[in-house]
This record gives sequence, structure tokens and C-alpha cells, in this order.
Amino acid sequence: MKRSLAFLFLAALVLACGSCRAVSHIFSDRLEAFYAQESQRVVHFETPPAGAPAFDIILIHICSLGWDDLEAASLRDHPFWKNFDYLFTNFNSVVSYTNPSAHRLLHAPCGQMPHAALYRPIPPECGLLDELRRVGFRTYAAFDHDGRYGDFAEELKKKDRTDPALPLDGLSVVEHNFDGSDIIDPSALLERWWRQRQDDAAPRAALYFNTTLLHDGAHFVKDKEWWKRDRVDRYREAVLLLFADVERFMKLLAASGRPAVVVFVPEHGMGLRGSKMQAAGVREIPLPRLTLVPVAVKVINGGPGAAGESPRVSNAPVSHLALAEMLAAFLRRPSLAAGDSGALLESLPRTPFVSENSGIRIAEKDGQLSLYPDYRPRTLLEPEEAEFFIQRRRPK
Ligand SMILES: [Zn+2]
Repeated sequence: MKRSLAFLFLAALVLACGSCRAVSHIFSDRLEAFYAQESQRVVHFETPPAGAPAFDIILIHICSLGWDDLEAASLRDHPFWKNFDYLFTNFNSVVSYTNPSAHRLLHAPCGQMPHAALYRPIPPECGLLDELRRVGFRTYAAFDHDGRYGDFAEELKKKDRTDPALPLDGLSVVEHNFDGSDIIDPSALLERWWRQRQDDAAPRAALYFNTTLLHDGAHFVKDKEWWKRDRVDRYREAVLLLFADVERFMKLLAASGRPAVVVFVPEHGMGLRGSKMQAAGVREIPLPRLTLVPVAVKVINGGPGAAGESPRVSNAPVSHLALAEMLAAFLRRPSLAAGDSGALLESLPRTPFVSENSGIRIAEKDGQLSLYPDYRPRTLLEPEEAEFFIQRRRPK
């Protein structure tokens, strides 16, 4: 909506609604207080102690994978999750679109920012890649796509200071995306990075890897009549391929003996089955079923070991700041294996649920979810959406 039209709409709304509070209060005090508090939070990365064994960090950022999608595809309890040491059941990706989600992950050292702030200059201490470089990491980027859609690669380079992406030449194409562009075999690309990293003398390396394998409308090259197939079946097959690729990659890392931390973190959900409030595949409203995503962390060659359950599960409400703190905590340790993994999970910063796309937010208070669109009064979310949210808080 153009600014002038939006203003007229807003003025009409205020005149028509005598009992409404002043416009400045449409965005509740609570949201303002939330953002004020978040602006104070920052995770500091410290140079690792002398003699601490170096480890690599691999961030695998996945488009279109939410808890709701996993449930719809009957993959919530898949053995894949047992590969990890830590699993977050209540991680809020905040946003339900790709580029801003990448900005949020790559600004993880700072508390949750309002959507518009993502597109303004960011304080230097908020840049995850810069912070990792500062404490001794050589950084890399790799995407299993050409990075052109939504100006993804360029935007990340400018906003998040990502490195030039690894070349994709010679790697096999596994899918075509909804716009016809190629999606490269993620497994082959991860292996290409791994070979390059091993030739690199840098003691510490960090990779930002982005995959769009699960995007709505992406389809396997081998599926000549993919549109005739059941949508859930196709999605399930792609998720299983991704699981197998990540598993294979983690085995490759383990076989090398080099310590590494793998962070599996989706950008946002896909909306595979939709709801009464929003049709399948639509992501305009950042509903919890789109922003509550399965995040898992594996410590390879130096992890917490076989003791206790695997993975350790956190039901706490967390977001990107918790991942920054987890990485910073690993860097503070004399070795990756040191420290109590349960205590680490408990110590991670929690973030009350506020999701946000451009012009629309959802916030929780006492288990009730409210919708705050720009220029319209707050409304309660449908009970079906609130129920999904509350269920995620219950330990399984
Ligand atoms: Zn995405």
C-alpha cells in the first residue's frame, strides 16, 4: 500500500473508531517494551583460550521446514533427530520469508530487531560472520542455488557480509525450483566445501550453507510429471533426501577427526498443510506454524558423548540469540567436550514469542496470541493457531 493511501486508511480508522486508543498505541506498549529490551541484548564472542583445540562451525540454513510441516509429513519423530546432541522444539525463526530470515540468523549475536531495522545499518557487534572472523575463523558461503531469486546472494553480501559463494560448476542438478532455476545436489556441494576447507591451513573455519531443496514448487529433475504427485509425498521425499545428505556430511566430518559444530536451522516453515487462517503455501502472516522450526546442533569429534539422552531437548522459547550464545559458549571452553550440556541448554537466553513480517506481527502473552497488523487494531489469533503454539511448549 502506498504511504498516502495508508495514511488515509489510518485516519479513517481513527475517526471511525471512537473507543479505539490513539494510533500510537495500536502497537501495544508490550511490543515496544519487547523491542526496547531486545535492543540491549548482545552476545560477545571471545577469542578462544590459548591452546584450546580449534573447531569448525557449519550453519546449514534450510528454506521451508517447520514443525508443522514435519507433522504433516509424519517426520517429526524421524530417527534423523537422534544424530544431534541438542534439539530445540520451540525455536522461533521470527519471520516466514527467506532473505530476512538469513539476516536474522546472520545477526544472531544481537537481540531480536524489528523487521525494518534489518534493512538499516546494523551495529558491527551484531554481525555473526564478522564476529567469527574477529575471533579467528576463516568464513565461507555456499548455496545450492544461483542466489538470484530475491537478489539473495547480493543482499546477503551487502547486509550480512557473506563471502562469495562456492562455484557450482560440475555438480549435479537434483531439482528445478518453482521458477525453473537449478537446485544443486546439497550433498555434493557440502563435500566440495569440505575438500576446499581441508586444503585451507586456517585453524578455524565457518560455513554459511543455504539450501532451497524444500521450497514450495521445487521438484526433482527425475519427476517428469511431478505436478501429478501428491504434494505431501513430494515434500516428504525431498525432506528425506536432505536428511540423508546432512547425515552423510556429518559422517564425513566425523571420519576426518577434526572437531566441528553443525547447526541445522530452518529459515521458516513451508505451510505444507495451511490452516483456517492461511491457505497452504501462503506465508504472509508469520503464524507459529510457520516460524516454529526444528533447530538441532551436533558437536562432532568432541561432543558431550554417549552419556544421557540423545539429543538433549529444549522446550524453552528461544530464537537466534540462543544459537549465538551456544557458539560463544563453545568458544569459551577449554575444549568442546568440557562443560555440562544440560546446564548449557538451561543457560541459553530465552526470547518471548514475537514473530514478524513486513507490516505484521504476532505476539504472545500468557499463552494467548495476538495479531498486530499495521494500521489495524490488535486481534486475537484463531484458537487453532494458539493450540498449535501451546502444544509445542509441552514436552514430548
Ligand atoms: Zn526460505
